[in-house]
Amino acid sequence: MPDLSLTVWIVIAGVLGLVVGSFLNVVILRLPERLDALWRQEARDVLELESSPAPLPPGIVRESSHCPHCKHSLAVYDNIPLFGWLLLRGRCRYCHAPISIQYPLVELLTAVLSAVVVWKFGPNGAALAGLFLTWALIALSGIDLRTQLLPDQITLPLLWAGLLLSLGHLFVEPKSALLGAAIGYLSLWSVYWLFKLLTGKEGMGFGDFKLLAALGAWMGPIALLPVILLSSFVGALIGGAMIALRKHARDVPMPFGPFIAIAGWVWFISGDHLLHAYLGLTGMG
Ligand SMILES: [Zn+2]
Repeated sequence: MPDLSLTVWIVIAGVLGLVVGSFLNVVILRLPERLDALWRQEARDVLELESSPAPLPPGIVRESSHCPHCKHSLAVYDNIPLFGWLLLRGRCRYCHAPISIQYPLVELLTAVLSAVVVWKFGPNGAALAGLFLTWALIALSGIDLRTQLLPDQITLPLLWAGLLLSLGHLFVEPKSALLGAAIGYLSLWSVYWLFKLLTGKEGMGFGDFKLLAALGAWMGPIALLPVILLSSFVGALIGGAMIALRKHARDVPMPFGPFIAIAGWVWFISGDHLLHAYLGLTGMG
């Protein structure tokens, strides 16, 4: 017999995911813009130039949403996650300009992944922490895809959260979390320098190291090798397909953050099963 109350919690998580997804859309679009403006302002201060007359772009939450094309502000029902976009068939109600498919995709993805987290952990503290991790990984992936950046404003809190959660023995012990964070950072850092010494190119950014450090803090050092292998595999698969479909030039660097995020999330949800399956296959189980 299916557990009715768990089913209800899974549905609640899905609906919550839709709402959070539409917030993540705003974070993905506006956080990089805002950081860019802040960096420019800081650089001007350091160089003692006159401060820029241009105002900062809107904050993440402050500004109401409007069509980026005709600037008409959107009605409440146009803003309903996923369904607003579907009802409008992806076009602005007023000027009929197409609305990016990023919006419904991020909302749908957040809803599905949130539901999976609650299905996996049940309605408890672990699920709550898991939702936080999931939402942060979605925001990071979206920002990295758009701007090739993994902002410290998300990776570092994620790292701290993993370390602090280990004090409550939620996913790993404090020792594992610390080692996971340190080894996670250093492993990609050494790959980066090795690659740079051998080829003279930069294959990754420092944000990638911080993201892997955060995942190490959440899941311990045991998870790092599978996450790196899985992310390289997913990266080669998606990257190869995109180059084959000529959606991506061969020489342009591809963001690696989304692949680390995907691999990290998959391991977070099903690492125990995957490990057993692997040990079973190799006869070590
Ligand atoms: Zn419009």
